[in-house]
Amino acid sequence: VLSPEPLPPGSAIGILGGGQLGRMLALAAARLGFRCHVLAPDRESPAFDVAAARSVAEYSDPAALAVFAAAVDVVTYEFENVPLEAAEWLAARVPVRPGPRALAVSQDRLTEKTFLRGLGLQSARFAPVDDLASLDAALAALGSPAILKTRRFGYDGKGQAPIAAAADAGQALTALAGAPAVLEERVAFAQEISIISARSVAGAIVHYDVAANEHRAGILFRSRVPAALAPAMEAEARRAAEAILGALDYVGVIGIEFFVAGGRGEGTLLVNEFAPRVHNSGHWTEDACSVSQFENHVRAIAGWPLGRPVRHFDVEMTNLIGAEIDDWERLAGEPGARLHVYGKREVRPGRKMGHVNRLRPRS
Ligand code: AMP
Repeated sequence: VLSPEPLPPGSAIGILGGGQLGRMLALAAARLGFRCHVLAPDRESPAFDVAAARSVAEYSDPAALAVFAAAVDVVTYEFENVPLEAAEWLAARVPVRPGPRALAVSQDRLTEKTFLRGLGLQSARFAPVDDLASLDAALAALGSPAILKTRRFGYDGKGQAPIAAAADAGQALTALAGAPAVLEERVAFAQEISIISARSVAGAIVHYDVAANEHRAGILFRSRVPAALAPAMEAEARRAAEAILGALDYVGVIGIEFFVAGGRGEGTLLVNEFAPRVHNSGHWTEDACSVSQFENHVRAIAGWPLGRPVRHFDVEMTNLIGAEIDDWERLAGEPGARLHVYGKREVRPGRKMGHVNRLRPRS
């Protein structure tokens, strides 16, 4: 099959979702001469400030989708909970990259884990839960401690309830309001890592260096590169990424999170989840690499060759959550620090407001 022609500069990229990821995608796209049309429901979406065109509309609004489809040459998304029906409707009219199947798989934790297992990739042991009886059975099979997670709409640790002992089962179900769920064993991980990879229309794949991630209260706090991971495990992460990208005939950037269970270095790599989009744990690529995750996503969906992601620096990315953004003036003056501010009008606790990349010469 011949690859379609690349979209020339001046083409219009449609982005579903208007958060900071859409904002950074639009900035990277503009540098290559593309115009972005952002569709998002919130009129204060941070991506609107830097987009050439905007639609303030629900993702499922048929009239807005028709205008959007007619205005753009390719569609992508910065948010994996875009309704599948909307992505499929668009895909019948204009290329949607990554394709709707990547959305469908990643929107449901049970589908996602089953898909990963089908590829021969390891994850935390899990079992589906629909009610107290299936939760009791899952706890008997997996043991505790465990974590109950809603199948859909979880992010930043939301939609999760820890279960320390079997007696907590009822409480955990109540916390998730009876939503369809999966029970996962709690992994005693030595490290959390992620890999950002990209696949082009022609099927070429590039990988960024693996990042070591720390979460606080379920939200990414910091990513460090290099990750101090054994080279064999880094290679295993790349192989896992290649398996996922190939199976989904994926076009664009993907972020895949893993637990390193057991000892650092010789442990086991368990896939936690993947995001069919640019990823928070790849924000370090903006300042430390020859080409960022955002630019490579734009290149991929536009049918361009990917940029080879050469890393020029060691780097630590720290999210600025809530009122931490008030520190912008000091951070702006800190040597070696690159400040990114998302321009969100309202500061709220737990809200991602910006990030800072601290660069050092490569070790
Ligand atoms: P998630 O939304 O599933 O990525 O979960 C957010 C964070 O909660 C992860 O990055 C981990 O720090 C923690 N977590 C989630 N699932 C597990 C698990 N099965 N075992 C241990 N920690 C977990």
